[in-house]
Amino acid sequence: MKIYIDGTYHSKDEAKISVFDHGLLYGDGVFEGIRAYDGRVFRLAEHIDRLYASATAVALEIPMAKKEMASAVVGAVHENGTQDGYIRLVVTRGAGSLGLDPSSCGKPTVIIIVGDIQLYPKEYYQKGIRIVTAATRRIPPECLDPRIKSLNYLNNIMAKAEARRAGALEAVMLNTRGYVAECTADNIFIVKDGRLLTPLPSDGALDGITRRAVQELAAAGDIGCIETALTQYDLYTADECFITGTGAEVMPVIGIDDRAIGEGKPGPLTLRLIDAYRKLVAE
Ligand code: PMP
Repeated sequence: MKIYIDGTYHSKDEAKISVFDHGLLYGDGVFEGIRAYDGRVFRLAEHIDRLYASATAVALEIPMAKKEMASAVVGAVHENGTQDGYIRLVVTRGAGSLGLDPSSCGKPTVIIIVGDIQLYPKEYYQKGIRIVTAATRRIPPECLDPRIKSLNYLNNIMAKAEARRAGALEAVMLNTRGYVAECTADNIFIVKDGRLLTPLPSDGALDGITRRAVQELAAAGDIGCIETALTQYDLYTADECFITGTGAEVMPVIGIDDRAIGEGKPGPLTLRLIDAYRKLVAE
């Protein structure tokens, strides 16, 4: 494995950053999780745009142009000889003083790791997963915009730990007003009366790239899709449910908090979208 740090490649053991990096000290930085399929980087331009938007939102100036960053990502994939893999692109605030003042940091650190990801065992794509509602609420958008994909994931990690304690692989998070926001590392969709519904970014959802792809696939397949406020009641009484993410892709959800969703097995629209998504990434 060859890891890119600020323009140079290092072996896994030698890839190191400063203990004074504010990415480590404060979770001060932004990142992207990206997939390579068959040697091609999926939706790279969208990931780069989101990374730079996140950075702009936290006043972090990435020391490279978008084009250079895109070439660096493609270069790292080639350098590793990767066909199918997961790319973690990280930009931290850089090394600074022990205080949290970002102006003490010299230059942002750019890291590209090309590895593997297998978030969920394969069989779950056919049989679906059960999830739980976390007691941990999503940080309100009024406090931190969920569209910022920052290195500070403690809120989601606490919810993920709850999922694990409940014996589930993922948890759905509500916002402080009780509406569904998203899962700890995935967006969520339900199917009701033949139409897709998914929470709004203003209710705490990341503007997921897989979410967008599913919305496009739905439009192309004449399936209605709206972004709207959803409650736990909507989830429990949905005909179908699935989650989306770069790592997870499209994963059916067959149970939430001990309630079966629909018929308790992956629904027809979900299966259709899983198939369409597989074709899309292979294009
Ligand atoms: N929500 C959160 C909190 C995430 O971290 C992610 C990415 N793993 C997603 C949603 C899904 O976004 P994307 O489809 O862009 O990977």
